[in-house]
Amino acid sequence: MRRAITLILDGLRRDFVTPELTPRLAAFRDSAEWFSAHRSVAPSVTRVASSSVATGTYPAAHGIEGNALALLEAGRLTVHDVGLPEFLPHRRRVTGHALDRPTMAERVADHGGTVIYSNVSPGAAYVHDPDGHGHVFHRAGSRGPGRVDLPPLPVKGNIDGDRLMTDQFLETMLADETAPAYGLIWMGEPDTCQHALPLGSPEHLEILRAADANAGRVIDAVRRLRDRDDILLAVGSDHGHQTVTAVIDVVGELERLGFGAALAAGDLVVAPNGTAALIYATERGRDQLPALADQVAEAAWAGEVVAADRLAEIGQDDGRGLALYVSMAASEDENSYGVPGLSQAVKPMAGKADRLGCGQHGGLGRYEQSPFLMIEGDGFAAGAARTEPTSLVDLAPTILAHLGLPAEGLSGRALSRPS
Ligand SMILES: [Zn+2]
Repeated sequence: MRRAITLILDGLRRDFVTPELTPRLAAFRDSAEWFSAHRSVAPSVTRVASSSVATGTYPAAHGIEGNALALLEAGRLTVHDVGLPEFLPHRRRVTGHALDRPTMAERVADHGGTVIYSNVSPGAAYVHDPDGHGHVFHRAGSRGPGRVDLPPLPVKGNIDGDRLMTDQFLETMLADETAPAYGLIWMGEPDTCQHALPLGSPEHLEILRAADANAGRVIDAVRRLRDRDDILLAVGSDHGHQTVTAVIDVVGELERLGFGAALAAGDLVVAPNGTAALIYATERGRDQLPALADQVAEAAWAGEVVAADRLAEIGQDDGRGLALYVSMAASEDENSYGVPGLSQAVKPMAGKADRLGCGQHGGLGRYEQSPFLMIEGDGFAAGAARTEPTSLVDLAPTILAHLGLPAEGLSGRALSRPS
């Protein structure tokens, strides 16, 4: 039987996949094809990336345009944290859909089914299958077909939890009779530790090695499974990290630039996304946009600023009120451990800690936009490297092609070579 497995190591930068730092992943390059210009989405954050992996589309199409985003509810823009378990049911009530495009779980439901294991935020896990076509396992609660509640994964959101989750995932995929056609495992590390530790510090590199060893267990298990099945194995990440050099109160900055009244009236709203900000406008707020875009572009804390007429270039659109994507100021300078890529970050929503000197992502900086991807199996040349730009949205069509299923309505394309 043809099956596919996707293994994601959240937040692992492509330049960290080396024989010294991640020996198992580096060795996997010998049997897989390596994609040297793989890119994340914008903003380069996990809930958006998860939705793009799940649907094979950009945020303009799937509708999850930020880790934090605003929904227009009763004429007012309200900012939501997509990571909370209640967000997708809320979006379904407000807009009629949890996600606006079908997921891999839906596409594969009648062709062998899907099992998802994720150790990131609940919201990022549930975007893989909000409508209950397959199985999703998460520490905040698991779901079976028909959105039937199943026991939560008994794991913590750390490397030990990733290991335990991997035990269960491999048991599922190795089962003779009940293994699904598509299995995805999304490890929380190294992302979780990178938010709390300086990139390249000894503590960070130790967890990176442990995550690499755990990835090696999945690679080994797939080798055993190939005695039985024709398996496509995609191993990659969703985004990289930059080092945070400053945390900017973007709302306060916009007030200083003269937009306090529009912010106070709710006609302009800021949704923080790590090293990026999404700025939304109501109909009334739209008058302010030309001046806002000009002034933000000149601010020292802003890097690339993408206004409404150019949002399509980054896979976004203004259909839900998004007016401005701000990638915060970034450079390729090094942190104190010699790791390049520095960024300013947006002050997070209330209650979350600022993380000066640690990792963050969300913007268009070089390293946050450099996730890795390797694919092993039919249609991929062992040890070869591909240099053309590829994106997270290419995973779904690649897997559907391997499974022999149609892939209409996707933004990406199948990456396999013609046989
Ligand atoms: Zn992530």
